[in-house]
Amino acid sequence: MEHNLHIYNTLTRRKKKFEAIHPPFVGMYVCGPTVYGDAHLGHARPAVTFDLVFRYLKYLGYKVRYVRNITDVGHLENDADEGEDKIAKKARLEQLEPMEVAQYYTNGYHKNVAQLNTLPPSIEPHASGHILEQIEMIRRILASGFAYESNGSVYFDVETYSQKNHYGKLSGRVVEDLLSNTRVLDGQSEKRNNADFALWKKASPEHIMRWNSEWSTGFPGWHLECSAMSTKYLGEEFDIHGGGLDLQFPHHECEIAQNKAASGKDAVKFWMHNNMITINGQKMGKSLGNFITLEDFFAGNHPMLEQAYHPMVVRFFMLQAHYRNPLDFSNSALQAAEKGLQRLLTGMETLANLKATDDGNADVKALINKFFEALDDDFNTPILIAHLFDAVKLINTIAAGNDTIEANDLFHLQSIMKDIVFDILGLLPMEAANENLNKLSEVVDLLLNMRMMAKAEKNWAMSDKIRNELTSLGFEIKDTKTGFEWSLSK
Ligand code: ZN
Repeated sequence: MEHNLHIYNTLTRRKKKFEAIHPPFVGMYVCGPTVYGDAHLGHARPAVTFDLVFRYLKYLGYKVRYVRNITDVGHLENDADEGEDKIAKKARLEQLEPMEVAQYYTNGYHKNVAQLNTLPPSIEPHASGHILEQIEMIRRILASGFAYESNGSVYFDVETYSQKNHYGKLSGRVVEDLLSNTRVLDGQSEKRNNADFALWKKASPEHIMRWNSEWSTGFPGWHLECSAMSTKYLGEEFDIHGGGLDLQFPHHECEIAQNKAASGKDAVKFWMHNNMITINGQKMGKSLGNFITLEDFFAGNHPMLEQAYHPMVVRFFMLQAHYRNPLDFSNSALQAAEKGLQRLLTGMETLANLKATDDGNADVKALINKFFEALDDDFNTPILIAHLFDAVKLINTIAAGNDTIEANDLFHLQSIMKDIVFDILGLLPMEAANENLNKLSEVVDLLLNMRMMAKAEKNWAMSDKIRNELTSLGFEIKDTKTGFEWSLSK
C-alpha cells in the first residue's frame, strides 16, 4: 500500500480530469494530539508536514478540507486496551475536570503550532463531541458481523475480519503472527483473541469519562474516533490520511478495518506518515532527560539547548528533511539551519531590490521548473530547498553585477519565490531576531547617552572607557554636532 510516492502527480492528473466538471476537492484527515501534556517536537513534525501539504494543494487550486482531530477521550495508557485514560489520569493527579486538562493543553498546542506558522485546519473535531457517531459506527460493525459484545464491552473481531480482508496491509504485519503470537488468554480476558481491539469499553467504577450505550455505561476505543469523524466530515471515501509513523500500527491499521467493516469500502486513497524525531540520535523520552517541549525550544530553556531557537528555525529545519525520513535534532544541526534560513531570507530581500537589464542571461525558467518538480515528487522539500539556494547564488551574482536578468524573468522569479518561500513553505522573516536587534540598539543608545553625560561632567576616563569598549565590540562611533552616530561594522 505504498501510495506515498508521486501522490501529487496522481492528484494533479485527477485535477485536470475533473476540473471542468467539479471544483477539484481534496479531503485530508490527520490524527491530531492527545491533549494531556505540553506540545513537543513529536507534535511539531506532523503539524508542519501536513501544513505544507495543505498549503501546496491549496496553491495548486484544490479546495481542501483539512480535518485534524483533538483526542480528549479514549486514549488509554497502552495499546492493549488496558490502563487508565491518559487525560483522566492527568485530571485525577491534578484534581481537575478532564475537560479542563484537555482545554489547557489544546490551548498550548494551538499557540505552539501557530508560532510554527501552521494554518488552522478547516475542521478540528473533538472525540468527546462525537460519541453518538462512534456508537452508531459500532452498531454498523456489529451488524456486519465483525465485532462482538463481551461483558458490556465491544471488541473488533480481527480473525473473522481477516478471513475476507487483509488486516496488516498498511503496516506489513502478518495477521497469522498477530493472532498466534500474542500471549495465551488467561480466561480472565474479555477478548476472544489478543489481536482484537476495543470499540467500546465498559467503564470501571472509578473511570470518570463515561456515556450511556446499549452495551454499558462506558467510553469508545481510541481507534474508533478517527474512523467516525473522518466518515462524518469527509465521507466514506476520501483522499489523504496522515499522521506520525508511530500511528501506522495499530491505530491506522485498526481504522482501515473499522471503516471497511462499517461501510464495505476502503476509506483512504493515500496514506502519508511523517517519520520520527530523535534528539542527538536518541528517541525522545521523559526518562532519558531529553524531553524538550516546544516552549523550551523557543525560549532556549533546557539544559540540552545551547540557545533559544526561533520557531521559523525549527520549521525550516524540519522542511530540510523529507517527511518520510527520520530527523535528528542537535544544537549544531539547528544552528546550521538558522544560518541557512538567514541566507535564504537575505536572498529574498536582495531579490526584491534587484534591477533588471534589457537582455539577461539567467535561466530562470529552468530553475522554476525544478522548484515545482521537487514539490510534485512527494513534497520533496530538501531538494526544493537545495534549488532555492541555487537561486540565492544566482541572485547574489546578479546583485554583484556578474550576471544579468531580463525584466520579465525578474518579475517571474520574484513572484514565484515569494509564493514558494512564504506561502507554500510557510516561512516568515524572523521577527524575534529583529526584536533582539532593536533591543541591542536601545542599549547602545543608552550607553552613548551616558557617555555624553560623562563628557558634560568632564569625566574623560568614563567617556573614553565607553567608547573604547564599544569599539572593541565592533561598533563604529562618530561624534556629531548634535550628539553621536553609530553603526555595527561587519
Ligand atoms: Zn487517529
